Amino acid sequence: MKRIFGLLHNLFHSFIEFLFPSSCPVCGAPVSTHGELCADCWTTFSWISNPKCIKCGYPFPANIDLGDRPLCPVCAAGDCVLDFIRAACVYDEVSRSVMLPFKHSGKIKYVRFMSRAMIWALRDMKDIPDIVMPVPLAWRRLCHRGYNQATLLAKPIAAAIGVKIDIDSVRRIYRPDMGHKNAVQRAENIKGVFKVVRPDKIRGRKILLVDDVMTTGATFAELKKVLMKAGASAVYGVVFCRVVRAI
Ligand SMILES: [Zn+2]
Ligand SMILES: [Zn+2]
Repeated sequence: MKRIFGLLHNLFHSFIEFLFPSSCPVCGAPVSTHGELCADCWTTFSWISNPKCIKCGYPFPANIDLGDRPLCPVCAAGDCVLDFIRAACVYDEVSRSVMLPFKHSGKIKYVRFMSRAMIWALRDMKDIPDIVMPVPLAWRRLCHRGYNQATLLAKPIAAAIGVKIDIDSVRRIYRPDMGHKNAVQRAENIKGVFKVVRPDKIRGRKILLVDDVMTTGATFAELKKVLMKAGASAVYGVVFCRVVRAI
């Protein structure tokens, strides 16, 4: 029965591919796998590879030899926002041009290549989390937007790791937009917006947070604070792109 179902599924998939040939979600060029970027678009992103900070993933210039376990000055000082952070690429014109429509204009067709790049970014994660948690969206925003972009990204990531996704243990209170605020204002604005409503699902767990972008790290820091208070044993994070400032 399982075989027949698999066959039907493949036939259906082939039929859909025949009707709608796969195309690059960014430029529309033909590609062999549905939802993947074409080679030209792929090269325009600033993908983060080694050398990078082993803790927060901060990228270092390629020509610097920092040994086997490089640490950025922030992590070396013990000030890392989370216990482990990875980002697929740097926040720049290119990543912003897919991230903003994905977040605000329903371009959810980008989810496949974005989530795959994030899974790739997690390849050196040694400590496997117990649950994957998208950064919660306030109900008011969810109703307005219709979806939480972080949840869309978190689903394939949780499936790839082989753990459950948690979307209801933490609620977020609505606050007006944080756009163009500095680090201090962002941290102030996010204070107290998260509330753990199912501490039983958090206690003793290692949690991997998922978001589309990391700007100052204020959202992750605040979420970690409430999760640790509720008894989480570790909090990690992964984003599609991160702002990289000179440190
Ligand atoms: Zn393309
Ligand atoms: Zn670091």
